[in-house]
Amino acid sequence: MCGIFGIIGHAEASNLAYLGLHALQHRGQESAGIVSSDGARLHAHRGMGLVHDVFDETVLSRLPGDAAIGHVRYSTAGQSILENAQPFSVSYGGGWLGIAHNGNLTNAIELRSSLEAAGSIFQSSSDTEAIVHLIARSRAGAPLDRIRDALLRLEGAFSLLFSTPDMLVAVRDPHGFRPLALGRIGNALVVASEPVAFDLIGAETLREVDPGEMVVIDRAGLRSERPFPQSLPRRSCIFEHVYFARPDSVIDGVGVYEARKNLGRILAEESPADADIVLPVPDSGVPAAIGFAERSGLPFEMGMIRSHYIGRTFIEPRQSIRHFGVRLKLAPVRALVRGKRVVVVDDSLVRGTTSRKIIKTIRDAGAREIHLRISSPPTRFPCFYGIDTPSRRELIASSHTVDEIAKYITADSLAFLSNEGLHRAVGGNAHCDACFSGNYPVPFPESADDRVHLRLVAN
Ligand code: AMP
Repeated sequence: MCGIFGIIGHAEASNLAYLGLHALQHRGQESAGIVSSDGARLHAHRGMGLVHDVFDETVLSRLPGDAAIGHVRYSTAGQSILENAQPFSVSYGGGWLGIAHNGNLTNAIELRSSLEAAGSIFQSSSDTEAIVHLIARSRAGAPLDRIRDALLRLEGAFSLLFSTPDMLVAVRDPHGFRPLALGRIGNALVVASEPVAFDLIGAETLREVDPGEMVVIDRAGLRSERPFPQSLPRRSCIFEHVYFARPDSVIDGVGVYEARKNLGRILAEESPADADIVLPVPDSGVPAAIGFAERSGLPFEMGMIRSHYIGRTFIEPRQSIRHFGVRLKLAPVRALVRGKRVVVVDDSLVRGTTSRKIIKTIRDAGAREIHLRISSPPTRFPCFYGIDTPSRRELIASSHTVDEIAKYITADSLAFLSNEGLHRAVGGNAHCDACFSGNYPVPFPESADDRVHLRLVAN
């Protein structure tokens, strides 16, 4: 889970990359980096923390040139190290290369083993580094040929940006698991995980980068190629619509806010509740709760207030801190919930620990009944394509029925959206829903299951 941003042909490339990364900050808070190109060489800065912590005016002034790529990285427990911060930048036999990756290669372990056997020395535990080695080892001559060569070895999820001194290359894997959009600001072209990055810098959104497309942008303009031998069915991640993308984004032509409201509307049709008010779990449950309230005719109330001064609790790497985080982050409005039958709407239920804490908080504030409604199906399967879901053991729905989960989280009733309702709300049938259905579009080695998460980190 990461955000990527690229720009070429603008005098303020690294400043705009910095702003673009701000708009993508929700996609990753562990580390941030920018690699700029001055036409002759690359310049890089990476650091741990938020975009705001990693960059200041002095640092940005050391990233000259009219092209830049940037990355914000999501944390995966135990892998919180600077070596994994992107974009990577190297100088190798073929020249300078920068790379930023969102996604997760399903053949990362095989690639790494075969590259190590051939003598490559890895410096990080990131799957992305394998791409750098593949490019460096390629027998092809020109940098673009080496990139094409390396792409043919990759399997799984990858939205990628490559930077060389004279071009920016954007690639989306043939299924299009992770989003990638193309925009323009003046004569400069920009690429980003989500178009909210364009909105912030005043760029116009042109289109998405298609699944299986490679867009090569140099100072002469843009050309599009299809570097992969087969075209595969589109399988863009449905969880972007449920939770991950910013609500003001448009992903695959679908407005995320409206999709989330639809999730809530359909949830209200499928699993209504006899209650007095509808409360969202802020911020992630807000649009779905609005849709639920609208369709069920119950009043929507901000019955819980979120502190915006701490990060997303899920990110805290240690269980003990995460539990504490819920209390730090969400406070009930007692006067609103006291004596009431409340519907609480959240976007997803993963481990169940957050919901349990929230329900206890609302119960302690005096609610009479609490009916939890989740605007996605139970998360039963880990993601191997770049969403940092925990291993199967920790996914409560993989081993418990809805009734058992309701008991564990102490809700008076619990209901999830159906998988059919999810697809209907988001539109189309071209999404990957493996985390809910277990239908994995790209196989991964059985033995890899939980170990992929331990050894190699997703981006
Ligand atoms: P829990 O059930 O305690 O694991 O927490 C679930 C909550 O975490 C959901 O309500 C989401 O808002 C949020 N969430 C779900 N999936 C993720 C994820 N992959 N990364 C971060 N937060 C997530």
